[in-house]
Amino acid sequence: GEKRPINLNALANECFKLAFHGLRAKDTAFNCQLVTELDTHLDPVTVDPQEIGRVLLNLYNNAFYAVRARQQQSDATYQPTVIVTTAKTKEGVQISVSDNGIGMPESVMQKIFQPFFTTKPNGEGTGLGLSLSYDIVTKGHGGLLRVESQMGVGSVFTIQLPQADQSN
Ligand code: ADP
Ligand code: MG
Repeated sequence: GEKRPINLNALANECFKLAFHGLRAKDTAFNCQLVTELDTHLDPVTVDPQEIGRVLLNLYNNAFYAVRARQQQSDATYQPTVIVTTAKTKEGVQISVSDNGIGMPESVMQKIFQPFFTTKPNGEGTGLGLSLSYDIVTKGHGGLLRVESQMGVGSVFTIQLPQADQSN
């Protein structure tokens, strides 16, 4: 795709709904609270919308998987929640996808950006989503992709993108 100035809030929102409805089509019982905390003063950022859209879809799908996995081990008081946050930073913009899913131990966290690493059973995961996402954000856009996670609490993936593209 081509890079062009876009509103990341709109992209974050559209991909959020797309991922959720895609999952709901396969699992009609799936429910999740979708929270958007979008910074309305965000400046347009020059990105390839298809590529960043792929990254966001990956992050949302992983988050939904994580809350669903936790829901299977929890009682009815558990409320699956995925939050997308956008914010202006000194260097550019930041998008975070947070979930209150199963989380991951340090040993898993160290490997998640490696191609083909997956903990999902029965061919449910290819293990390519995050390695691809990492390359798109870092090599493709001169940005950063970070993760924080705690077992049984949840995970936060944060994409940082420079306002002016520094990847070429
Ligand atoms: P896949 O989804 O096909 O397994 P990914 O590259 O997207 O491949 O993710 C790799 C692994 O990282 C997952 O199998 C899972 O163990 C872990 N992971 C990714 N996102 C989350 C998340 N939101 N919560 C818990 N674990 C996660
Ligand atoms: Mg994935």
